[in-house]
Amino acid sequence: MSYVFNPEAVTSVPVVGRAERFPVRRVYCVGRNYEEHAKEMGFTGREPPFFFLKPANAVVPVEAGATGSIAYPPLTKNLHHEIELVVAIGTGGKNILAADAHKHIFGYAVGLDMTRRDLQNEMKKQGRPWSIGKAFDQSAPIGPITPVAAAGDVANAEIYVQVNGADRQRSNVAKLIWNIGETIEHLSAAWELQPGDLIYTGTPEGVAAVVAGDTLVGGVGGLGTLTVKIA
Ligand code: MN
Repeated sequence: MSYVFNPEAVTSVPVVGRAERFPVRRVYCVGRNYEEHAKEMGFTGREPPFFFLKPANAVVPVEAGATGSIAYPPLTKNLHHEIELVVAIGTGGKNILAADAHKHIFGYAVGLDMTRRDLQNEMKKQGRPWSIGKAFDQSAPIGPITPVAAAGDVANAEIYVQVNGADRQRSNVAKLIWNIGETIEHLSAAWELQPGDLIYTGTPEGVAAVVAGDTLVGGVGGLGTLTVKIA
């Protein structure tokens, strides 16, 4: 096989305890999956889960113990952090039942669903796609993936992010409206999942703006921390 130009390298994420890396295929994201965040966005109640995607090459892998860096993106004056538990798929499948979802999970990581909130809100108002608000370059920082066996009780883990040392978001994964299994059931009914897929499972309340120079430290209990500086 030859190409008319060299294809971009596959984006990959470090794996805790392994030399091999996790190659990213797709990035799925769940919208409004914590009740208090749904409320702060102006919605209430348990609606069916809905999904959007980010390009695989929007992922910014941050090595263990390192500080990642992302550029403040263009066109926005309101760049928000959304700290999220990320599920890494190791075995594909479609129409996966929630009860079987664990068989498809390779591991978990801490991720940030960075959002150009002003652009997202404008697109919402106009009934247009969210892509410009959500799927921009470097919009998906992620820390190392912890394999399931080493990850502990992720479903009941604390999730938080601090900006410049001060708490911004702090909740618990147990407060997900659609839990990990239910999310995979719904998602795999719409798309056939494949190894390498990442699922950003949604963010708790407390989303807010960051500016150039800010340092974000996010974590999920048992999965370590993710540090990212806004350049
Ligand atoms: Mn999100």
